[in-house]
Amino acid sequence: MSPTVHALDRARASLSEIQRPGRAEVEAAVRTIIRWTGEDPERDGLIETPARVTRSLEEFFAGYAQDPVDILKKTFEEIEGYDEMIVLRGIRFESHCEHHMAPIVGQAWVAYIPNGRVVGISKLARVVDVYARRLQIQEKMTAQIADTLDEVLQPLGVGVILEAAHQCMSTRGVHKAGVSMVTSRMLGAFRDDPSTRREFLAIVGNQNAFSVSNT
Ligand SMILES: [Zn+2]
Repeated sequence: MSPTVHALDRARASLSEIQRPGRAEVEAAVRTIIRWTGEDPERDGLIETPARVTRSLEEFFAGYAQDPVDILKKTFEEIEGYDEMIVLRGIRFESHCEHHMAPIVGQAWVAYIPNGRVVGISKLARVVDVYARRLQIQEKMTAQIADTLDEVLQPLGVGVILEAAHQCMSTRGVHKAGVSMVTSRMLGAFRDDPSTRREFLAIVGNQNAFSVSNT
């Protein structure tokens, strides 16, 4: 990108920061929704609801304030000789779909084969959380997790599988409960080497993993 484009990006970023609504504006929007349902936002049971909803939303979307690259960069260590697969299994996550802002609840399996660098396993879970706490589609989230690990750790391979139930499908629309969606992204050895891929899928399968479909 040219310097001009960078300057434009910065200008745009600071503009969106200025235009970002404050908490009072979000609470007012929630009161509007309550009135729209036919309820009275001033009645006892609802008076604190806009503030509570806003605090919940802050939690749901906390991922925008966090940089997953930073999380991974801070803690990598040099290791001697360990070049086998590292797998973090069944990381529960809660996200929200960008089409309906409805919950997506699922699990992630994150694996990589180090190439000199490993990261604390809690950092893998945090990367999943940071991307989950944004408005998401599952396919994009899967790719973001895998690509970030690949970019920062530069491992020999990365495998990411997500399985999740989408409440926009179970509690509205087609009302199909008990259905889950599986997405995966395989990079490096996980894509090119069938035995690596088989090893990862066996670990995922052995956990009797695909059990989130009733959430
Ligand atoms: Zn949706």
